[in-house]
Amino acid sequence: MSDKDRISQFARVLKPSGIRKYFDLAQSMSGVISLGVGEPDYTSPWRVRQAAIKSLEMGQTAYTSNSGMLELRKSVCKKTEEETGICYDPYSEVFITVGVSEGLDTAFRAMINPGDEVLVPDPHYVSYDACAFLAGGTPIYVPTVEQDNFEISYDLLKKYLSPKTKLLVMGYPANPTGAILPKAKVEEVTRFVKENDIFVISDEIYSKLTYGQKHYSIVSQPDMKERTILLNGFSKAYAMTGFRIAYALGPKDIIAAMAKIHQYTIMCAPTMSQIAAIEALRQDDDVATMVDDYNRRRNVMVSGLRSIGFSCFEPKGAFYAFPSIAKTGLSSEEFAEKLLMEERVAVVPGEAFGQSGAGHIRCCYATAISQIEEALMRIEHFARKYF
Ligand code: PLP
Repeated sequence: MSDKDRISQFARVLKPSGIRKYFDLAQSMSGVISLGVGEPDYTSPWRVRQAAIKSLEMGQTAYTSNSGMLELRKSVCKKTEEETGICYDPYSEVFITVGVSEGLDTAFRAMINPGDEVLVPDPHYVSYDACAFLAGGTPIYVPTVEQDNFEISYDLLKKYLSPKTKLLVMGYPANPTGAILPKAKVEEVTRFVKENDIFVISDEIYSKLTYGQKHYSIVSQPDMKERTILLNGFSKAYAMTGFRIAYALGPKDIIAAMAKIHQYTIMCAPTMSQIAAIEALRQDDDVATMVDDYNRRRNVMVSGLRSIGFSCFEPKGAFYAFPSIAKTGLSSEEFAEKLLMEERVAVVPGEAFGQSGAGHIRCCYATAISQIEEALMRIEHFARKYF
């Protein structure tokens, strides 16, 4: 067998994530300030860690049900009803996943047939097109632009529709832009989805991290529960990335198909993490404290970038700023590489999130204000060479 044939066609053409590349580079250098990886700098709340520790002390080390602990599924349904007004059955309409990452992969694999097209608003989180592709689907990129607040609309989606369109995957609040989708636009998307008889995978992992305007879920629209796989999790809002814990909610038949795949590939989410997640959902006080803090950091980051001379979209959610670096005349790849080498600041080039990200960089502000201020000084020093 040739060296080439040892690797599957899918794995061969899959590009490595543009986020990891800069993370690995930055890790190998000293004195780097990282605005690269999208991860809270907080440790998980102590009450959450304590629940995990206690579970181990009590010897709760066995598998749980494939779908996850019933107590956690009930808590997830209760929380989702409070937040969206939509009621899910904890026995048949939810299961616990290993991160939203697993939810995305499983949702595509449960719904996509070879050749089905998936609408992917662009710029987009790096897993959306990769997971659609691995499931045999064809990602169709729907370019969104800063002038429209990186929002999708009925007319925009219509342009990219074909008889093969099966799904729209959307993630608002958005990574990398920080955009949210206002209710009026959610209504347009709903009309588009219903008129064309397609489905939505809605990644709402940043739903709790908004500044000013609240997140509005597409499942809250009439009859959209039947057409939506709602993914959410604990990584961002509760600073629990390493616990690898999240959930998927949706219509019975799709959840059953996803759970069947999960049963063979994952078995169940880690027991300790499920117990920690039950504790996380007991109250949101620590989430509110983190949101206040992210908001302060967001203001420092956005006003700092603007005062250097970059035009910067006002992020309304998540923890990313997505300034345009076009006036430097550098591509976003060149900018990120030179900034890292010359000033030791790691950012992610916008192109890592698709073509529509060209001319931008993603700066994660989930880091201490002192670090953000130092990074801004270095970015200014760098930018002065160009304008
Ligand atoms: N969805 C989005 C938009 C993300 O930004 C991330 C992580 O950065 C994920 C999903 C993956 O989250 P998890 O840690 O739950 O797998």
